[in-house]
Amino acid sequence: FDALEAFDPEIAAVLTGELDRLRGGLQLIASENLSSPEVLTALGSTLSNKYAEGYPGRRYYGGCAEVDKAETLAIERCKALFGADHANVQPHSGASANQAVYGAFLQPGETILAMSLPHGGHLTHGTKVSFSGKWFDAVHYGVDKDTEDIDYDEVERLAKEHRPKVILAGGSAVPRLIDFARFRAIADEVGAVFWVDAAHFIGLVAGGAIPSPVPYADVVSFTTHKVLRGPRSGAIVCTEEHRAAIDKAVFPMMQGGPQMHTIAAKAVNFKECATPEYAEYTRRVVANAQVLAGALGEHGIRPTTGGTDTHLSLHDLQGVLVTGADAEARCDAAGITLNKNAIPFDPQKPNIASGIRVGTPAVTTQGMGEDEMRTIARLISRAVTEGDADPEHPVSREVRAEVGELVAAFPAYPRPA
Ligand code: PLP
Repeated sequence: FDALEAFDPEIAAVLTGELDRLRGGLQLIASENLSSPEVLTALGSTLSNKYAEGYPGRRYYGGCAEVDKAETLAIERCKALFGADHANVQPHSGASANQAVYGAFLQPGETILAMSLPHGGHLTHGTKVSFSGKWFDAVHYGVDKDTEDIDYDEVERLAKEHRPKVILAGGSAVPRLIDFARFRAIADEVGAVFWVDAAHFIGLVAGGAIPSPVPYADVVSFTTHKVLRGPRSGAIVCTEEHRAAIDKAVFPMMQGGPQMHTIAAKAVNFKECATPEYAEYTRRVVANAQVLAGALGEHGIRPTTGGTDTHLSLHDLQGVLVTGADAEARCDAAGITLNKNAIPFDPQKPNIASGIRVGTPAVTTQGMGEDEMRTIARLISRAVTEGDADPEHPVSREVRAEVGELVAAFPAYPRPA
């Protein structure tokens, strides 16, 4: 770091500024976490220099002996962690992993059935602004108006009506467990490939805190940087039957050279995820999320579906007469980072939204527990209902001071003693 600081003080200042931001505030974005120093060390390594198009033992470049070892370890650890027949650890991100799944199973113009974005899906699940909605015919299911959980009868009805080539489960704002067996049965009924985008919850699966989609799905794509707590990247696991299609779709169909430093960091992360400490962490992530969702509800910030089974909850702010955009800005000014989010049947535009999404992966990594979740709920409630987007507003200042005390007791990346 000293050499970087001497050569490029501007970028060095960004690195220290971001570390200060992480240390100084509450990180409640459900898709973020705090990777270990070991993962970050692999990421910042000379493996970044290496071209290694192809797969271990079958490269288009010389000099791949060392990086082959890293990728083989990542593949084997990933397969063991999820009990999968095959793993491809090369996708650069969740969106890249998803693009490869489309490439493996669909021709342009063919039909996919996926969860709609405003009900909790993801941009890459067939929205018009994404390649997935431009190149493929996307049909969307949503949630039931009463339960606010996936409407499985609608999934079945749409599957029978549209006979999709692929049925996709998973999303970015799905607080409840997904019934993979039901999806599998529907996919079998119409002869569709069953794909799970497990980006959000795969870490909980790795730690055994929630059931796995792997025994049910043909293919599971995921990111490695959310609850999983690895580097910012993606991966795919699939059955033996689809191994060749997935590998060809990742390279050469979709990507060029794999990022070997990131693959090494994924290997480190998969090793971390196989430990009892990580399993315990995932159980605490869920317990914390349940307490936080319940406590916010007690403050009038209603959790959709009545709560959560996972690491995240989605909250309806209509009862406190604040928009998602205002809530996000007020929390930001108070040192609390979370995001506005559309709720199912949202009357607001997506960039305003009636909800917020909160997640516990990062604060649980910091060691916070259920008491702290109740404190966080109180601080969010105060910032949202009495606060202001101006950091100098007295409520912003007061909440920020309390946030400061809380995070000082549970530091992110603690300084060496
Ligand atoms: N799929 C889901 C369900 C996600 O939530 C996300 C990211 O939030 C992605 C895919 C895309 O991942 P990335 O941002 O790594 O491209």
